[in-house]
Amino acid sequence: MSDEQRTPVERSVLVLGAAPEAGWVSEALHDRGYRVAWVPGDEAAPDNAAAGIDRHDGWRLARLDGRVGAFRAGMVDEDGRHETLTASAVVVAVGNRRAVSWERLGVSPADPGVMTVPQARRLLDAPRETGPAYPHRQQTILVALDLGGDTAKETATEALFLARDLRARWNSEVLVLYRNLQVDTSDLEALTRHMREEGVVFCRYEEPTLEATEQGVAFTYVEGTLLGQILIVPEDVFPREDTPALAKALGLRVGEDGYFQEVNIRQYRPGLSERKGIYYAGRCHMDADPATLRADAFRAAADVDALLGRGYLTPEAIRAEVDSAKCARCLTCVRTCPHGAVDVVTRDGVTAAWVEPLACWGCGACVANCPVQAIDLLGLETPAWASRLSEGIAAS
Ligand code: SF4
Ligand code: SF4
Repeated sequence: MSDEQRTPVERSVLVLGAAPEAGWVSEALHDRGYRVAWVPGDEAAPDNAAAGIDRHDGWRLARLDGRVGAFRAGMVDEDGRHETLTASAVVVAVGNRRAVSWERLGVSPADPGVMTVPQARRLLDAPRETGPAYPHRQQTILVALDLGGDTAKETATEALFLARDLRARWNSEVLVLYRNLQVDTSDLEALTRHMREEGVVFCRYEEPTLEATEQGVAFTYVEGTLLGQILIVPEDVFPREDTPALAKALGLRVGEDGYFQEVNIRQYRPGLSERKGIYYAGRCHMDADPATLRADAFRAAADVDALLGRGYLTPEAIRAEVDSAKCARCLTCVRTCPHGAVDVVTRDGVTAAWVEPLACWGCGACVANCPVQAIDLLGLETPAWASRLSEGIAAS
Protein backbone atom coordinates (compact mmCIF):
# COMPACT_ATOMS: atom_id res chain seq x y z
CA MET A 1 0.00 0.00 0.00
CA SER A 2 1.57 3.27 -1.08
CA ASP A 3 1.70 6.27 1.26
CA GLU A 4 -0.46 8.25 -1.21
CA GLN A 5 -3.37 5.94 -0.49
CA ARG A 6 -3.12 6.47 3.24
CA THR A 7 -5.48 9.09 4.68
CA PRO A 8 -4.45 10.15 8.18
CA VAL A 9 -7.29 10.01 10.72
CA GLU A 10 -7.74 11.20 14.25
CA ARG A 11 -8.53 8.57 16.89
CA SER A 12 -11.87 10.09 17.74
CA VAL A 13 -15.31 8.53 18.20
CA LEU A 14 -18.87 9.72 18.63
CA VAL A 15 -20.98 7.44 20.86
CA LEU A 16 -24.77 7.83 20.67
CA GLY A 17 -27.19 6.57 23.31
CA ALA A 18 -27.91 6.26 27.00
CA ALA A 19 -27.99 2.46 27.21
CA PRO A 20 -25.40 0.84 29.51
CA GLU A 21 -23.45 -0.35 26.47
CA ALA A 22 -22.91 3.28 25.43
CA GLY A 23 -21.04 3.84 28.67
CA TRP A 24 -19.03 0.62 28.28
CA VAL A 25 -18.00 1.49 24.71
CA SER A 26 -17.07 5.03 25.73
CA GLU A 27 -14.92 3.85 28.60
CA ALA A 28 -13.25 1.09 26.57
CA LEU A 29 -12.27 3.51 23.80
CA HIS A 30 -11.23 6.22 26.22
CA ASP A 31 -8.98 3.69 27.94
CA ARG A 32 -7.34 2.99 24.56
CA GLY A 33 -6.54 6.66 24.12
CA TYR A 34 -9.42 7.72 21.91
CA ARG A 35 -11.08 11.13 22.07
CA VAL A 36 -14.66 10.16 22.92
CA ALA A 37 -17.69 12.40 22.52
CA TRP A 38 -20.67 10.74 24.22
CA VAL A 39 -24.15 11.99 23.31
CA PRO A 40 -26.68 10.17 25.52
CA GLY A 41 -29.71 11.85 23.95
CA ASP A 42 -32.78 12.88 25.88
CA GLU A 43 -32.48 10.21 28.56
CA ALA A 44 -30.41 10.11 31.70
CA ALA A 45 -27.24 8.17 30.93
CA PRO A 46 -25.53 5.87 33.41
CA ASP A 47 -23.04 7.80 35.43
CA ASN A 48 -20.16 5.47 34.70
CA ALA A 49 -18.12 7.62 32.38
CA ALA A 50 -14.44 7.98 33.09
CA ALA A 51 -13.06 11.46 33.51
CA GLY A 52 -11.99 12.79 30.15
CA ILE A 53 -14.99 11.54 28.19
CA ASP A 54 -16.64 14.53 26.59
CA ARG A 55 -20.33 14.13 27.57
CA HIS A 56 -23.04 16.08 25.78
CA ASP A 57 -26.10 15.49 27.97
CA GLY A 58 -29.29 17.03 26.63
CA TRP A 59 -28.08 17.08 23.02
CA ARG A 60 -29.23 14.84 20.18
CA LEU A 61 -27.98 14.10 16.70
CA ALA A 62 -29.86 15.99 13.97
CA ARG A 63 -27.76 14.90 10.99
CA LEU A 64 -24.48 13.22 10.13
CA ASP A 65 -22.43 14.44 7.20
CA GLY A 66 -19.02 13.39 5.90
CA ARG A 67 -17.62 9.89 5.75
CA VAL A 68 -15.55 7.45 7.73
CA GLY A 69 -12.52 9.22 9.12
CA ALA A 70 -14.18 12.63 8.83
CA PHE A 71 -17.77 12.58 10.09
CA ARG A 72 -19.47 15.86 11.03
CA ALA A 73 -22.33 15.46 13.47
CA GLY A 74 -24.88 18.26 13.58
CA MET A 75 -26.21 18.40 17.14
CA VAL A 76 -29.18 20.25 18.63
CA ASP A 77 -30.04 20.72 22.31
CA GLU A 78 -33.33 21.16 24.15
CA ASP A 79 -33.21 24.94 23.64
CA GLY A 80 -32.71 24.60 19.90
CA ARG A 81 -29.04 25.55 19.96
CA HIS A 82 -26.79 23.90 17.38
CA GLU A 83 -23.22 22.69 17.41
CA THR A 84 -21.08 20.42 15.26
CA LEU A 85 -18.93 17.59 16.53
CA THR A 86 -16.30 15.83 14.45
CA ALA A 87 -15.36 12.17 14.75
CA SER A 88 -13.67 9.49 12.69
CA ALA A 89 -16.18 6.79 13.67
CA VAL A 90 -19.61 6.52 15.24
CA VAL A 91 -21.01 3.92 17.62
CA VAL A 92 -24.80 3.68 17.92
CA ALA A 93 -25.78 2.34 21.36
CA VAL A 94 -29.21 3.80 21.91
CA GLY A 95 -30.78 0.70 23.47
CA ASN A 96 -34.39 -0.39 23.14
CA ARG A 97 -37.79 0.34 24.64
CA ARG A 98 -39.57 -1.77 27.22
CA ALA A 99 -43.22 -2.23 28.07
CA VAL A 100 -45.63 -4.97 29.12
CA SER A 101 -48.47 -5.73 26.72
CA TRP A 102 -51.01 -6.31 29.50
CA GLU A 103 -53.90 -6.69 27.08
CA ARG A 104 -52.36 -9.98 25.87
CA LEU A 105 -52.03 -11.47 29.34
CA GLY A 106 -55.54 -11.63 30.77
CA VAL A 107 -54.50 -9.88 33.99
CA SER A 108 -53.75 -6.24 34.72
CA PRO A 109 -51.19 -4.43 36.87
CA ALA A 110 -54.11 -3.29 39.03
CA ASP A 111 -54.86 -6.89 40.08
CA PRO A 112 -53.52 -7.76 43.56
CA GLY A 113 -50.14 -9.49 43.48
CA VAL A 114 -49.48 -8.78 39.78
CA MET A 115 -46.21 -7.01 39.08
CA THR A 116 -43.40 -6.74 36.55
CA VAL A 117 -39.86 -8.03 36.98
CA PRO A 118 -38.41 -4.54 37.65
CA GLN A 119 -41.14 -3.84 40.24
CA ALA A 120 -40.40 -7.11 42.02
CA ARG A 121 -36.66 -6.43 41.83
CA ARG A 122 -37.16 -3.02 43.50
CA LEU A 123 -39.12 -4.68 46.32
CA LEU A 124 -36.48 -7.34 46.73
CA ASP A 125 -33.61 -4.86 46.78
CA ALA A 126 -35.30 -2.31 49.04
CA PRO A 127 -33.51 -1.78 52.37
CA ARG A 128 -34.74 -4.28 54.94
CA GLU A 129 -35.70 -1.57 57.42
CA THR A 130 -38.23 -0.01 55.01
CA GLY A 131 -40.07 -3.31 55.02
CA PRO A 132 -41.96 -3.21 51.67
CA ALA A 133 -41.02 -6.80 50.98
CA TYR A 134 -42.27 -8.36 54.22
CA PRO A 135 -45.87 -9.04 53.10
CA HIS A 136 -44.51 -11.06 50.18
CA ARG A 137 -42.15 -13.41 51.99
CA GLN A 138 -42.83 -17.13 52.09
CA GLN A 139 -45.59 -16.92 49.51
CA THR A 140 -46.05 -18.84 46.26
CA ILE A 141 -44.65 -16.79 43.38
CA LEU A 142 -45.32 -17.51 39.73
CA VAL A 143 -42.73 -16.06 37.33
CA ALA A 144 -44.44 -16.39 33.96
CA LEU A 145 -42.36 -16.17 30.80
CA ASP A 146 -43.52 -16.32 27.17
CA LEU A 147 -47.07 -15.14 27.84
CA GLY A 148 -48.51 -13.90 24.57
CA GLY A 149 -45.25 -14.61 22.71
CA ASP A 150 -41.62 -15.49 23.37
CA THR A 151 -39.98 -13.40 26.07
CA ALA A 152 -36.85 -11.61 24.90
CA LYS A 153 -33.54 -13.13 26.00
CA GLU A 154 -32.61 -9.91 27.78
CA THR A 155 -35.71 -9.79 30.00
CA ALA A 156 -36.02 -13.58 30.36
CA THR A 157 -32.54 -13.58 31.87
CA GLU A 158 -33.52 -10.83 34.30
CA ALA A 159 -36.60 -12.85 35.28
CA LEU A 160 -34.52 -15.97 35.93
CA PHE A 161 -32.05 -14.09 38.14
CA LEU A 162 -34.99 -12.58 39.99
CA ALA A 163 -36.58 -16.03 40.51
CA ARG A 164 -33.30 -17.32 41.90
CA ASP A 165 -33.00 -14.38 44.32
CA LEU A 166 -36.64 -14.58 45.43
CA ARG A 167 -36.14 -18.21 46.32
CA ALA A 168 -32.99 -17.46 48.28
CA ARG A 169 -33.96 -14.20 50.01
CA TRP A 170 -37.71 -14.40 50.51
CA ASN A 171 -37.72 -18.14 51.13
CA SER A 172 -40.63 -18.30 48.70
CA GLU A 173 -41.97 -21.19 46.68
CA VAL A 174 -41.00 -20.04 43.19
CA LEU A 175 -42.33 -21.56 39.99
CA VAL A 176 -40.97 -20.49 36.62
CA LEU A 177 -43.63 -21.02 33.96
CA TYR A 178 -42.43 -21.07 30.38
CA ARG A 179 -43.54 -22.16 26.97
CA ASN A 180 -40.44 -21.81 24.86
CA LEU A 181 -37.60 -20.82 27.15
CA GLN A 182 -34.52 -19.96 25.12
CA VAL A 183 -31.39 -20.86 27.03
CA ASP A 184 -28.57 -20.26 24.64
CA THR A 185 -25.53 -19.38 26.66
CA SER A 186 -23.43 -21.43 29.00
CA ASP A 187 -24.06 -18.94 31.81
CA LEU A 188 -27.81 -19.36 31.51
CA GLU A 189 -27.57 -23.12 31.37
CA ALA A 190 -25.52 -23.06 34.58
CA LEU A 191 -27.99 -20.62 36.12
CA THR A 192 -31.06 -22.80 35.48
CA ARG A 193 -29.24 -25.88 36.79
CA HIS A 194 -28.34 -24.00 39.98
CA MET A 195 -31.95 -22.79 40.33
CA ARG A 196 -33.33 -26.30 40.10
CA GLU A 197 -30.85 -27.44 42.73
CA GLU A 198 -32.05 -24.64 45.00
CA GLY A 199 -35.68 -25.69 44.65
CA VAL A 200 -37.04 -23.41 41.93
CA VAL A 201 -39.62 -25.39 39.95
CA PHE A 202 -39.81 -25.10 36.15
CA CYS A 203 -43.15 -25.86 34.46
CA ARG A 204 -43.64 -25.93 30.72
CA TYR A 205 -47.11 -24.93 29.58
CA GLU A 206 -49.25 -24.62 26.47
CA GLU A 207 -52.34 -22.46 26.04
CA PRO A 208 -52.65 -21.17 29.60
CA THR A 209 -55.43 -19.07 31.05
CA LEU A 210 -54.89 -16.55 33.82
CA GLU A 211 -57.48 -15.33 36.26
CA ALA A 212 -57.08 -12.85 39.07
CA THR A 213 -58.91 -14.06 42.20
CA GLU A 214 -59.09 -12.85 45.80
CA GLN A 215 -56.54 -15.51 46.78
CA GLY A 216 -54.10 -14.60 44.04
CA VAL A 217 -53.63 -15.40 40.37
CA ALA A 218 -54.85 -18.74 39.04
CA PHE A 219 -52.71 -20.08 36.20
CA THR A 220 -54.47 -22.95 34.45
CA TYR A 221 -52.81 -25.22 31.88
CA VAL A 222 -52.99 -28.84 30.82
CA GLU A 223 -51.49 -30.15 34.09
CA GLY A 224 -54.04 -28.30 36.27
CA THR A 225 -54.26 -24.96 38.08
CA LEU A 226 -51.46 -23.26 39.95
CA LEU A 227 -52.36 -20.56 42.43
CA GLY A 228 -49.79 -17.88 43.19
CA GLN A 229 -50.13 -15.03 45.65
CA ILE A 230 -47.81 -13.17 43.31
CA LEU A 231 -47.56 -13.25 39.52
CA ILE A 232 -44.43 -11.66 38.04
CA VAL A 233 -44.11 -11.03 34.32
CA PRO A 234 -41.07 -9.78 32.38
CA GLU A 235 -41.29 -6.77 30.12
CA ASP A 236 -41.38 -7.03 26.34
CA VAL A 237 -38.68 -5.26 24.36
CA PHE A 238 -39.26 -3.11 21.29
CA PRO A 239 -37.18 -0.89 19.06
CA ARG A 240 -37.05 2.69 20.31
CA GLU A 241 -39.70 4.89 18.75
CA ASP A 242 -37.09 7.34 17.50
CA THR A 243 -35.11 4.63 15.65
CA PRO A 244 -36.44 5.60 12.15
CA ALA A 245 -35.59 9.28 12.73
CA LEU A 246 -32.11 8.48 14.03
CA ALA A 247 -31.50 6.04 11.16
CA LYS A 248 -32.46 8.77 8.70
CA ALA A 249 -30.07 11.23 10.35
CA LEU A 250 -27.29 8.61 10.15
CA GLY A 251 -28.10 7.57 6.58
CA LEU A 252 -28.81 3.98 7.70
CA ARG A 253 -31.63 1.53 7.16
CA VAL A 254 -34.04 0.08 9.66
CA GLY A 255 -34.91 -3.60 9.37
CA GLU A 256 -38.41 -5.00 9.04
CA ASP A 257 -38.37 -5.74 12.76
CA GLY A 258 -37.82 -2.03 13.47
CA TYR A 259 -34.26 -2.42 14.79
CA PHE A 260 -31.13 -1.11 13.15
CA GLN A 261 -30.27 -3.36 10.26
CA GLU A 262 -26.76 -4.74 9.96
CA VAL A 263 -26.94 -6.59 6.68
CA ASN A 264 -24.09 -5.62 4.46
CA ILE A 265 -23.81 -6.80 0.91
CA ARG A 266 -20.20 -7.90 1.20
CA GLN A 267 -19.69 -8.52 4.86
CA TYR A 268 -22.03 -9.86 7.50
CA ARG A 269 -20.71 -9.27 10.94
CA PRO A 270 -22.70 -8.42 14.05
CA GLY A 271 -22.57 -4.72 14.72
CA LEU A 272 -21.45 -3.67 11.27
CA SER A 273 -23.71 -1.06 9.69
CA GLU A 274 -23.92 -0.55 5.97
CA ARG A 275 -21.95 2.71 6.25
CA LYS A 276 -18.24 2.38 6.86
CA GLY A 277 -17.20 3.71 10.23
CA ILE A 278 -20.64 3.37 11.87
CA TYR A 279 -21.10 0.48 14.29
CA TYR A 280 -23.91 -0.80 16.46
CA ALA A 281 -23.55 -1.90 20.06
CA GLY A 282 -26.03 -3.73 22.24
CA ARG A 283 -29.81 -3.62 22.39
CA CYS A 284 -30.37 -1.34 19.40
CA HIS A 285 -29.44 -4.24 17.10
CA MET A 286 -29.66 -7.45 19.13
CA ASP A 287 -31.53 -9.31 21.84
CA ALA A 288 -29.20 -11.00 24.31
CA ASP A 289 -28.54 -11.67 27.95
CA PRO A 290 -26.62 -8.99 29.90
CA ALA A 291 -23.25 -10.75 29.62
CA THR A 292 -23.55 -10.95 25.84
CA LEU A 293 -24.63 -7.31 25.64
CA ARG A 294 -21.55 -6.28 27.57
CA ALA A 295 -19.35 -8.41 25.31
CA ASP A 296 -21.00 -6.77 22.30
CA ALA A 297 -20.05 -3.34 23.61
CA PHE A 298 -16.40 -4.40 23.79
CA ARG A 299 -16.69 -5.95 20.31
CA ALA A 300 -17.84 -2.54 19.01
CA ALA A 301 -14.88 -0.84 20.71
CA ALA A 302 -12.55 -3.43 19.17
CA ASP A 303 -14.07 -2.81 15.71
CA VAL A 304 -13.43 0.92 16.06
CA ASP A 305 -9.87 0.26 17.18
CA ALA A 306 -9.27 -2.10 14.24
CA LEU A 307 -10.44 0.67 11.90
CA LEU A 308 -8.65 3.67 13.41
CA GLY A 309 -5.88 2.19 15.51
CA ARG A 310 -3.18 2.59 12.84
CA GLY A 311 -3.90 6.31 12.54
CA TYR A 312 -4.73 6.15 8.84
CA LEU A 313 -7.34 4.69 6.48
CA THR A 314 -6.87 3.08 3.11
CA PRO A 315 -9.47 2.46 0.41
CA GLU A 316 -10.62 -1.02 -0.53
CA ALA A 317 -8.50 -2.76 -3.16
CA ILE A 318 -11.62 -2.93 -5.33
CA ARG A 319 -13.71 0.22 -5.45
CA ALA A 320 -15.91 2.18 -7.82
CA GLU A 321 -14.88 5.28 -9.75
CA VAL A 322 -17.08 7.53 -11.88
CA ASP A 323 -16.05 8.89 -15.26
CA SER A 324 -17.40 12.41 -14.77
CA ALA A 325 -17.35 13.05 -18.54
CA LYS A 326 -19.90 10.26 -19.06
CA CYS A 327 -22.07 10.92 -16.02
CA ALA A 328 -25.62 12.08 -16.82
CA ARG A 329 -26.29 13.09 -13.18
CA CYS A 330 -29.37 10.87 -13.03
CA LEU A 331 -28.70 10.08 -9.32
CA THR A 332 -29.33 6.36 -9.86
CA CYS A 333 -26.02 5.47 -8.21
CA VAL A 334 -26.72 7.79 -5.28
CA ARG A 335 -30.00 5.97 -4.68
CA THR A 336 -28.57 2.53 -5.42
CA CYS A 337 -25.43 2.54 -3.32
CA PRO A 338 -26.26 0.56 -0.17
CA HIS A 339 -23.35 2.13 1.68
CA GLY A 340 -23.95 5.85 1.22
CA ALA A 341 -20.68 6.19 -0.65
CA VAL A 342 -21.88 8.23 -3.65
CA ASP A 343 -22.84 11.88 -3.91
CA VAL A 344 -23.15 14.37 -6.72
CA VAL A 345 -20.53 17.08 -6.36
CA THR A 346 -18.92 19.83 -8.38
CA ARG A 347 -15.17 19.38 -8.79
CA ASP A 348 -13.00 21.50 -11.08
CA GLY A 349 -16.16 23.05 -12.52
CA VAL A 350 -17.73 19.69 -13.47
CA THR A 351 -20.85 18.44 -11.69
CA ALA A 352 -21.05 14.65 -11.63
CA ALA A 353 -21.45 11.66 -9.36
CA TRP A 354 -18.49 11.09 -7.03
CA VAL A 355 -17.62 7.91 -5.19
CA GLU A 356 -15.91 8.60 -1.89
CA PRO A 357 -12.99 6.12 -2.01
CA LEU A 358 -12.83 5.48 1.74
CA ALA A 359 -16.59 4.85 2.00
CA CYS A 360 -16.87 2.47 -0.97
CA TRP A 361 -17.05 -1.28 -0.30
CA GLY A 362 -16.58 -2.14 -3.99
CA CYS A 363 -19.83 -4.09 -4.09
CA GLY A 364 -20.53 -3.09 -7.71
CA ALA A 365 -24.22 -2.22 -7.25
CA CYS A 366 -23.72 1.23 -8.77
CA VAL A 367 -21.80 -0.20 -11.73
CA ALA A 368 -24.63 -2.55 -12.55
CA ASN A 369 -27.25 0.18 -12.35
CA CYS A 370 -25.63 3.15 -14.11
CA PRO A 371 -27.63 3.65 -17.34
CA VAL A 372 -24.66 5.07 -19.26
CA GLN A 373 -21.87 2.78 -17.96
CA ALA A 374 -20.08 5.71 -16.37
CA ILE A 375 -18.79 3.71 -13.40
CA ASP A 376 -15.96 1.19 -13.30
CA LEU A 377 -14.65 -1.01 -10.53
CA LEU A 378 -10.97 -0.21 -10.01
CA GLY A 379 -8.72 -3.06 -9.00
CA LEU A 380 -11.01 -5.75 -10.37
CA GLU A 381 -8.94 -8.01 -12.53
CA THR A 382 -10.99 -9.71 -15.21
CA PRO A 383 -10.42 -13.46 -15.14
CA ALA A 384 -8.64 -14.80 -18.26
CA TRP A 385 -11.65 -16.93 -19.22
CA ALA A 386 -13.92 -13.87 -19.12
CA SER A 387 -11.51 -11.84 -21.29
CA ARG A 388 -11.35 -14.65 -23.84
CA LEU A 389 -15.14 -14.92 -23.77
CA SER A 390 -15.62 -11.20 -24.45
CA GLU A 391 -12.95 -11.27 -27.15
CA GLY A 392 -14.75 -14.21 -28.75
CA ILE A 393 -18.10 -12.44 -28.60
CA ALA A 394 -16.55 -9.29 -30.14
CA ALA A 395 -14.94 -11.30 -32.96
CA SER A 396 -18.11 -13.23 -33.88
S1 SF4 B 1 -25.87 6.35 -12.29
FE1 SF4 B 1 -24.27 6.85 -13.79
S2 SF4 B 1 -25.12 8.56 -14.91
FE2 SF4 B 1 -26.37 8.36 -13.08
S3 SF4 B 1 -25.43 9.78 -11.64
FE3 SF4 B 1 -24.48 7.80 -11.32
S4 SF4 B 1 -22.63 7.79 -12.57
FE4 SF4 B 1 -23.93 9.45 -13.26
S1 SF4 C 1 -19.26 -0.13 -5.50
FE1 SF4 C 1 -20.76 1.49 -5.87
S2 SF4 C 1 -22.62 0.77 -4.83
FE2 SF4 C 1 -20.93 -0.42 -4.00
S3 SF4 C 1 -20.22 0.69 -2.20
FE3 SF4 C 1 -18.98 1.43 -3.90
S4 SF4 C 1 -20.07 3.23 -4.63
FE4 SF4 C 1 -21.52 2.08 -3.38
